[in-house]
Amino acid sequence: MKLRFFPYTLELKHAFTIATSSRTTTPAVLVEVEQDGVVGYGEAAMPPYLGESQESAAAFFRSVDFGRWPDPFQLEEILPAIDAIAPGNTAAKAALDIALHDWIGKKLGAPWFRLWGLDPAKTPVTSFTIGIDTAEVVRQKTREADIYKIIKVKLGGGTDRMMIETIREVTDKPITVDANQGWKDRAEALKMIEWLAARGVVFIEQPMPKGQNADTAWLRERSPLPLIADESVQRLADVRAAHGVFDGINIKLMKCTGLREAAKMITLARALGLKVMLGCMTETSCAISAAAQLSPLVDWADLDGAVLIKNDRFDGATIIEGKVTLPDRPGIGVIKL
Ligand code: MG
Repeated sequence: MKLRFFPYTLELKHAFTIATSSRTTTPAVLVEVEQDGVVGYGEAAMPPYLGESQESAAAFFRSVDFGRWPDPFQLEEILPAIDAIAPGNTAAKAALDIALHDWIGKKLGAPWFRLWGLDPAKTPVTSFTIGIDTAEVVRQKTREADIYKIIKVKLGGGTDRMMIETIREVTDKPITVDANQGWKDRAEALKMIEWLAARGVVFIEQPMPKGQNADTAWLRERSPLPLIADESVQRLADVRAAHGVFDGINIKLMKCTGLREAAKMITLARALGLKVMLGCMTETSCAISAAAQLSPLVDWADLDGAVLIKNDRFDGATIIEGKVTLPDRPGIGVIKL
């Protein structure tokens, strides 16, 4: 199997601000694996706060020797061995996982949703994300989100009530809130959640810092809204600890090393009675389409990553009337533009 990779900088349509950072681009690396004349595509999208870069991904890819695995179908051999090469590098690992899945699906002539036995009509609606911004920009973005049935809003930046009140001037659609660990005090967090619950908010993602599990568990016992772990749950090994602290988990391919582990996380989360959300970074339609293959299994999707960039390189899963829509194409369902 041949591996090729290309640094690619995702250009955002709007500056994107969350409780901890702001940016206008996202570094990414696109990868291709090729064998028997079949090419599989993958992508690592790496928001800088997660610690990976185009350089670290390139170094990781150079350390992978595909000659060790003559049969690319043996993902249960290949992916754990790739994971063991070095700790971290979860986006780089996800790029390889996605590319191998794409290659296998193309070789078999089937999309992954079909190989997993899923009904493509059961994809969820996706939320559209609005970052922390001025009232004027929030109003404009809420209007732009016209086709979406759910708005996801980033809070925790000190202007929480203004953000929600501004959105409510424009629309009465359901809102989901992502505090990105921005609330440090549990009693204050509870007051805010009660205020949000009265304004049509559906759930709260990562209300408190990831180290504050005891505070989050306290909050969960009293919260009128479900609490969803994002920063607190990266990989399969973190899912069990979310039980009793959160009501659900947000799975992202770039955090969890890809589709194989994401599918296992969904199974474990269900066994523990947890809700499941499928999220993303800003990504091209390559990684988004890969995640979309799993989306019939989840309660909520936040797969607007490709809509937020100006320079997508792939055609794949799309959002029609706010709903994730899977193309009937093999692998992860993408065509390179
Ligand atoms: Mg989040």
